[in-house]
Amino acid sequence: MSTDPNSSEEKAIQRIKAKRLANQDPTLLFKQLVEGNRDALARGITWVESTLASDQLLAEELLKLILPHAGKSKRIGITGVPGVGKSTFIEQFGQTLISHGHKVAVLAIDPSSQRSHGSILGDKTRMDLLSRSELAFVRPSPASDTLGGVARATRESILLCEAAGFDIIIIETVGVGQSETSVHGMVDFFLLLMLAGAGDELQGIKRGIMEMADYILITKADAENQKPAIQAQRQYKAALHLFPPSEKVWYPGVELCSALENIGIDPFIERMNAYFQSMQSSGWIAKNRTEQDVNWFYDALRYEVLQAFKRDPELHEKLKSLEQQVINKTISPFAAASSLANDKF
Ligand code: GDP
Repeated sequence: MSTDPNSSEEKAIQRIKAKRLANQDPTLLFKQLVEGNRDALARGITWVESTLASDQLLAEELLKLILPHAGKSKRIGITGVPGVGKSTFIEQFGQTLISHGHKVAVLAIDPSSQRSHGSILGDKTRMDLLSRSELAFVRPSPASDTLGGVARATRESILLCEAAGFDIIIIETVGVGQSETSVHGMVDFFLLLMLAGAGDELQGIKRGIMEMADYILITKADAENQKPAIQAQRQYKAALHLFPPSEKVWYPGVELCSALENIGIDPFIERMNAYFQSMQSSGWIAKNRTEQDVNWFYDALRYEVLQAFKRDPELHEKLKSLEQQVINKTISPFAAASSLANDKF
């Protein structure tokens, strides 16, 4: 039977073959990825998320190849409590950015999925329209036992998305714990979404998170919600005035938006662009990224050292025994750590 190389069947077979080959071959996956192939990007991210040693080797190889192609995006963190309107906002924001000629990747960090195996961000179908766009890539939070593990996978996924040509990377997280600090440490711009009519305590938003914000948007400012939104805007503006100005000389705005009515998104993008222009020309973005890289290095080192301890059966046992002694208060956490470190080094 002769096969026509241009038949759709033959093309599908070739695609499957290429996919199989790329599944084992970082160089091939790299080629597909830098051409903007979203399947290849998804498979690369699966490698960086994997805990299998064989996948981690492939991921390492792939990361080496993509590194010169990474870094050319605007990295944007978005946080807010569950229900504040993050996915509705990102759906609208992402589509508007695409209409301005951008390619948008959305990565999520969801600490709840580690604790309860139920996730706040990942379970429901979110950002449906954006996910279906050829110019977008939406990826739910990786599963990992620790926030450190999730953060590492997300940092590496940012680099892969950049190499695949996405020039806006949105990292979304739930504003309920430590993950905001972690996201803040991997982005250039940090957006906090707030609800009107709910006190700070109700929103679980700590002062520290407001202090990290480069911009605050009060969501759902439509219909009868408009008045409380304006009130909230006044309060948050006043609260922000109490913070000392940051070294980057940028005063975070507090504005209203309605993702459902598409109000406030375009002016927000204008302000965000102004921020990037100013921070790029002052050199802040480059300086901040270098600092972040150094922090990532130490985070990764801590993670690797701990993993190495856990992999060694003898050390793992000692680790567990010391953990129990810390729980029993028969040894101080510092003494426990240094006893283990002295054992190893
Ligand atoms: P998330 O949990 O922060 O991702 O929040 P969602 O985006 O899922 O939104 C939570 C609820 O708020 C949903 O029922 C949305 O329809 C609603 N919502 C989101 N944005 C708006 C908005 O701009 N206006 C109004 N009135 N409702 C909104």
